[in-house]
Amino acid sequence: MQENLFTDLFINSKWVKTNKQYVVTNPATGQQIASVSHAGSDEIEAAIQSATVAFKVWKNSSAKTRCEKLQKWCQLIIAHKEQLAALITMECGKPLKEAANEALYAASFVEWAAEQARRIDGVIIDSHMPNTEINVAYEPVGVVAAITPWNFPVAMVTRKIAPAIAAGCSIVLKPSELTPLSALYLAHLALLAEFPEGLINIIGGDSAEIGAKFTHDERIRKITFTGSTRVGKILLADSASTLKRVSLELGGNAPFIIFEDADMDEALAGLMQCKFRNAGQTCVCANRILVQQSIYDEFAARFKNMVAKLNVGNGFDENTNIGPLINLSGKQKAQAHIKDAVNKGATLYFGGEDLGGNFLQPTILTHVTDDALLCREETFGPVAPIFSFIDEDEAVYKANNTKFGLAAYFFTSDYKRIHRLKRSLEVGMIGVNSGVLSAENVPFGGVKESGLGREGGKPGIYEFVEAKYTMNKF
Ligand code: ADP
Repeated sequence: MQENLFTDLFINSKWVKTNKQYVVTNPATGQQIASVSHAGSDEIEAAIQSATVAFKVWKNSSAKTRCEKLQKWCQLIIAHKEQLAALITMECGKPLKEAANEALYAASFVEWAAEQARRIDGVIIDSHMPNTEINVAYEPVGVVAAITPWNFPVAMVTRKIAPAIAAGCSIVLKPSELTPLSALYLAHLALLAEFPEGLINIIGGDSAEIGAKFTHDERIRKITFTGSTRVGKILLADSASTLKRVSLELGGNAPFIIFEDADMDEALAGLMQCKFRNAGQTCVCANRILVQQSIYDEFAARFKNMVAKLNVGNGFDENTNIGPLINLSGKQKAQAHIKDAVNKGATLYFGGEDLGGNFLQPTILTHVTDDALLCREETFGPVAPIFSFIDEDEAVYKANNTKFGLAAYFFTSDYKRIHRLKRSLEVGMIGVNSGVLSAENVPFGGVKESGLGREGGKPGIYEFVEAKYTMNKF
């Protein structure tokens, strides 16, 4: 594994070691994996300057060149998916099979961006005046600063870097300090793909310091962030100082609604997929399960049978379905949500056991009350709280009764209801009889306090370009 560890900063296409280091630990074992270089103000400055110089060249590259570089990077990611998967499992904890899927999922964003790079076409508008022509060209927004989380340490990186590069931007990336190793491995693959000097730069260190530098620096024209709503608000407020473009993928509190007319097998399978991926540490995972009262007991019992079969353990063990939580505070938050719900009247229906270290037994809570903390906060753990509702109006009211608006899911066989709910749910993404949403070709993102902008799909690329209009008189 040692040969796959890149632990320096990546600035101007060179590895830069610093004296100050921070430690990355394996959440399954608590053991130290590596010491990683910590960027101080000089390194942050060098990374931004490197991207600034690279941008001047890259913005004039041909669409074909941008496409080909991304294709090469994509091929290398796929060819090294096992190395990436091992790094992901080691630093993030998720089961190895899930980690390998993440590597392919990460590659899919690069492939999509490579294809889109050649389709950022401008337009000619029929003019309002004689002897004139109006052109609109889409130009890269400039140097992009990206900040990514630990829960998808590879996919969240490519989801930002690839469209930025496709659009003609350069990048400074700050991955999560909990999971920088897989991002740095992506830089190694970018070197193999012969990316131009300085096109991508990767730094880690004091996240507040780096965030403040990114937001206040005039050379950076765009901030793209995935993480908590708390930090997203700081970045948005601070970006006002230099009036940057900002894209934010923030927290969710997804309702997962099962109506009495749903196909229960499908709903259960969808819920298992949606709830327990990455031990429940995904922003689109079901945070509030709403089950119609008439099927409540049967649904809960069948769900319990399925959850009881999940194996918790080290992600490198092939029997593992659920790895550790990312760290102790992640586990303690999930535990606090369980305790709070029970204190307010919920039943601990299954699990809840502290399995030591960062491990928590998957947990089902039934008869959860609407004042429970987990109605307001994202749990980010393997905790499945089941609420009940009487009719559609109540389900919709409860689903929307949150400041978040990322994803929602519902299962029903009533086609009229499907159309009603598609309109009434206040979210950016809906799974209708489906527990899976994300893909490279769809616009991923939320409304309300879940974020601004979209990643992926056709809209994804437009987050990294500006429309430039020209009036031509002849
Ligand atoms: P989570 O709670 O899921 O870890 P965070 O929003 O804290 O979400 O972290 C997501 C990313 O934001 C990480 O890369 C983290 O280092 C970074 N981050 C945390 N605090 C700040 C900050 N004040 N400014 C900029 N980035 C930050």
